[in-house]
Amino acid sequence: MAKYPELTELLNLSNLKVVHYQLVGQNRINLFVEPTLDMALCPDCQQASMTIHDTSEPQMIRDLSIWDRSCWLRLLPRRFKCAHCQKTFVEQLAWREPGRDYTIRYEQHIYKRARKEPISQIAQDERLSEDAVQGIFERWAKKG
Ligand SMILES: [Zn+2]
Repeated sequence: MAKYPELTELLNLSNLKVVHYQLVGQNRINLFVEPTLDMALCPDCQQASMTIHDTSEPQMIRDLSIWDRSCWLRLLPRRFKCAHCQKTFVEQLAWREPGRDYTIRYEQHIYKRARKEPISQIAQDERLSEDAVQGIFERWAKKG
């Protein structure tokens, strides 16, 4: 059972629950999130692994703003050990590309805006650097 079922429902990211939240000043909210699945697929042999090897340091991942607050997801990435091939691997998440500091839907939101609006305006509204906005725009423009 999620501790905050309403926040989990509002967040609406697949296989993810909200276990805690924190308001930071007037402009930010942190949602503490955890994957709900007990397993992950090994990228090498495609077998399901149920064994968590360890969890990494918490990562902060930017998501869509809510109620005029920047929203950040605090996640501890889980590393699994595959019982079949013995390799360890970090689980893949459908809503975030590996290594990115943003959810996919947040990058798409920035990309859509950047097609119509000045980079500087978006950076100011979203409290991002212009380089960050430009980087997201170029990344998604390449994807077509
Ligand atoms: Zn494997």
